[in-house]
Amino acid sequence: MDEEVVKAYIRAGEIAARVRDEAARMIEPGRRLIDICEYAENRIVELGGAPAFPCNISINSVAAHYTPVIGDEAVVPEGAVVKLDVGVHVDGYIADTAVTVALDERWTPLIEAVREALERALETVRPGARFADTGRAIAEAIQSRGFRPIVNLGGHSLARYRVHAGESIPNAFDPAIPGRYSPGKAYAIEPFGTNGEGLVVEDRETVTIYSLARLGLRRRLTSLERSILEEVQRRFRTLPFTERWLSHLTSDVQALRKSLRRLARMGFLTQYPALVERRRGMVAQFEHTVLITDGGEVIVTTSGSTG
Ligand code: MN
Ligand code: MN
Repeated sequence: MDEEVVKAYIRAGEIAARVRDEAARMIEPGRRLIDICEYAENRIVELGGAPAFPCNISINSVAAHYTPVIGDEAVVPEGAVVKLDVGVHVDGYIADTAVTVALDERWTPLIEAVREALERALETVRPGARFADTGRAIAEAIQSRGFRPIVNLGGHSLARYRVHAGESIPNAFDPAIPGRYSPGKAYAIEPFGTNGEGLVVEDRETVTIYSLARLGLRRRLTSLERSILEEVQRRFRTLPFTERWLSHLTSDVQALRKSLRRLARMGFLTQYPALVERRRGMVAQFEHTVLITDGGEVIVTTSGSTG
């Protein structure tokens, strides 16, 4: 494995861990979500990285895929369970990490179950080990504490400029699940646990994150739509982005949103609706990125505590 690639992953991991922990300390009732996320995204750049995706801040039964929009007035509610998910890339090499903060101690057992699940899961990650064994460790840790893993979310392989590079690491035990950890690859391990059903569904009304799907066939586009695509291709390539990162293109926020939706309908953009627990159970998540080098050494790029 190229030494420069290893260095880029480790640097991305260091920045991600630091920003995750700093931003997590900002989570308190009444704090604006947008202030927390903009702090995180700006801090990533200040430390020499770039955001690999918009800072995700997901409250209570929202599991993932919410980032504040332009002018977002939402604040951290009293007693909330808040997931903060941060991605950093250095030269396209991505570190992906998340923590959950509970503002009411009645949710501590859920948080601890998922934190424990990540620790047990990381013990299974080594060259040649089966993804299925990670799924087993996660499911056992969460179920033994009386909660359910969210089985339609999971970890994933990472590649240059690709957050989801094709392989999935299950959050449930299924011995038939194929796949093994390969040297030279990076993986995000991310258990989710809930007191609900253990499934997420898409909230199609809440789309705040997009990525480029394809280019071409530009002649039917408005000038704003064309400039969105050019900007996305140049700045984010295939990485996810959000409307806040395009606000300089127009002062008309409604036009910007309408253009993003239309580009998604036409197939130029992929949209990522917010993911909500189906029975509106409370959701906790912890995530680390692991790099498996040629020497067989496993490096947890997001070093430090998981909370
Ligand atoms: Mn993540
Ligand atoms: Mn991830």
